[in-house]
Amino acid sequence: MKQWKNIVAVAAFTMAATAVQAEDKFVTIGTGGQTGVYFVVGQSICKLVNRGTGDHGIKCTAPSTGGSIANINAIRAGDQDMGVAQSDWQYHALHGTSKFEENGPFAELRSVFSVHPEPFTVVARKDSGIASFDDLKGKRVNVGNPGSGARGTMEVIMGEKGWQMSDFSLASELKSAEQAQALCDNKVDAIVFTVGHPSGTIQEATTSCESVIVPVEGAEIDKLIADNPYYSAAVVPGGMYTGTDGDVNTFGVKATFVSSTKSDEETIYQVVKAVFDNFDRFKGLHPAFANLKAEDMVSAGTSAPIHDGAARYFKEKGLLN
Ligand code: GLU
Repeated sequence: MKQWKNIVAVAAFTMAATAVQAEDKFVTIGTGGQTGVYFVVGQSICKLVNRGTGDHGIKCTAPSTGGSIANINAIRAGDQDMGVAQSDWQYHALHGTSKFEENGPFAELRSVFSVHPEPFTVVARKDSGIASFDDLKGKRVNVGNPGSGARGTMEVIMGEKGWQMSDFSLASELKSAEQAQALCDNKVDAIVFTVGHPSGTIQEATTSCESVIVPVEGAEIDKLIADNPYYSAAVVPGGMYTGTDGDVNTFGVKATFVSSTKSDEETIYQVVKAVFDNFDRFKGLHPAFANLKAEDMVSAGTSAPIHDGAARYFKEKGLLN
């Protein structure tokens, strides 16, 4: 009798375990290239979420993607649940402007929190003689892959300056993870990337060959900053990368973490909780996160309404009224 009871208990346990598994919820976070910071943002969030799968049943993956614009489009199409995106592209997606004009406003877009600042960064081969953004004219430049936020922001600057792709002797469209090698193999004179610092891509580009970080400043850049809430003046700190000892002026955006109303409140609540209940651990996962402050991350650089699940967590913690 005792044995039989045990068998029943084991069977019941097995059924319960199966039931929990059947309820597991798989979620994906769109990131960027493997040597960027978005990839680490997504991987870090998933790492913290997956530590609690036994409690909440959420299983998270964060594949490499084309970047900001690709992520927002994938969320809209229902192919990804969450993603990392530059603040300028979050704004344009919500309002249906710029690159999102054709698709119209993405009213269901939701901000979850913002992350690190991303200065627009130009790295040039030392032997190219490029010393300012304007020197890129006539040169071989990797303008970035379509779908990346960096490519989009590059096109915004070009528009402001009245430049066409044909103003470069070569405009290549390599992905962010491929561009440092192209620079050091002398396939291009310069690369551009909107990215947190320090980043793997820029480290690779500045240590594999002699290269310098080039300032992006002047009247057109001042106008972009003055006219648009999602841009601000930014600096790539001197001494962070080999070959560039002084601070370099540029402008930048914020990396933001977004989702849509398609993701349910409980899932986003658990994701936000996993990050902010383990905030010191999260900050330790990449040097670009070192200066993050929870208070700022609730709303800095976001234009879309905050997701209900994120709002619930932030209210519980007194970070939101
Ligand atoms: N901001 C970049 C983009 O959207 C990605 C930066 C990164 O991978 O860290 O293209």
